[in-house]
Amino acid sequence: MANMDDRSLVPHNIRDLSPYVAGKTIAEVEAEYDPPQISKLASNENRLGCSSHVQAQVIKAMQEIQDYPDPVSRQLREVLAEQNNVSPENIIVGAGSESLIANLCRTFFLNNEEAITANATFVGFFVQANIRGISLKKVPVTNDYRYDLDAIAEAISERTKMVYIANPNNPTGTYVTKSEFERFMRKVPKDAIVVMDEAYFEFARDVSDYPHSLDYEFDNVITLRTFSKAYGLAGFRIGYGIGPEHLVSEMSKTKLTFEPTTPAQAAALAALGDTAFLKKSRDVVIEGKKRLYKFFEKHNVDYVPSISNSVMMVLADEEQAVAFTQAMLEEGVILRRINAFGLPSCVRITIGREHEMKHFERSFEKVADTRILR
Ligand SMILES: *Cc1c(COP(=O)(O)O)cnc(C)c1O
Repeated sequence: MANMDDRSLVPHNIRDLSPYVAGKTIAEVEAEYDPPQISKLASNENRLGCSSHVQAQVIKAMQEIQDYPDPVSRQLREVLAEQNNVSPENIIVGAGSESLIANLCRTFFLNNEEAITANATFVGFFVQANIRGISLKKVPVTNDYRYDLDAIAEAISERTKMVYIANPNNPTGTYVTKSEFERFMRKVPKDAIVVMDEAYFEFARDVSDYPHSLDYEFDNVITLRTFSKAYGLAGFRIGYGIGPEHLVSEMSKTKLTFEPTTPAQAAALAALGDTAFLKKSRDVVIEGKKRLYKFFEKHNVDYVPSISNSVMMVLADEEQAVAFTQAMLEEGVILRRINAFGLPSCVRITIGREHEMKHFERSFEKVADTRILR
């Protein structure tokens, strides 16, 4: 169309968004650099794959693919309810926790209400809040890259409708402790919703002072979990929220009716039953982190200890982060810059299997030699 100013058709909050920049795919890196080995350590996916129970159930679900999915994921909600000691009415299932974040932003805000979160956290919340035109207060993380819950509590006003906390946080891997969470909840007004995004719960849950938000029965807390990380089902798009019925029932009204798909629901059910796979995934991540910390200490690399499945490196500045990530990519190690998450001079490394971590180490030593680092 000639000469039409399409931009005037688009509201400024949408125009101001940047499109999502995904990490490079394995196929793209292969085509571009053809390295002898490729390790994708960019998106916090499960490097073990997923449970071997999943495939047969998904193939079975294919027989029903001409029919719409169960819009309320009845069977999955029943199993999740039993596992988490809540009732199915407390649970909503969506196409990934990102979809549930969008749902939260659609459901609870009047036009002048605001949300609060940290300045260095999951970009998905920033994006969904902006799409909905919600004004967003971003409270700086502490010097050790942790949510500053005291400062967040201070920032709460009469306009605050929601506080979003990723625990453990992505991209930092840090967490708010039990006592911090409890102190914070004493200060939060009852008419503000606290979202605890526990995408990495399965990796974090055994840490002694990590608060399990479901152990508390607050009637203004909604917990988000996902099958994308520990369960290895990122490609299926399925996650869930757990909260008080009076909030979850409202979210059910604004949910996209037929998500997630039938095969995704079947995959999640199969994955839930395989606790051995989950344990193996956790063990690989624990081992991989130990190994990486040791390596970083040997090389004097500044890093942030993590209770999730990724570790953040702190580089000198953005330029170094760009150069390092690019040099590693050329070696076949796909890492994630996290400028969109508010940390331009940091790089996030997903913990993989031993051969992938060794690939990281070899490549790092090669790259460090070229004086990209210090
Ligand atoms: C990965 C991630 C998500 C997205 O999970 P999906 O279920 O794949 O949408 C949500 N929150 C955090 C903090 C994450 O790191």
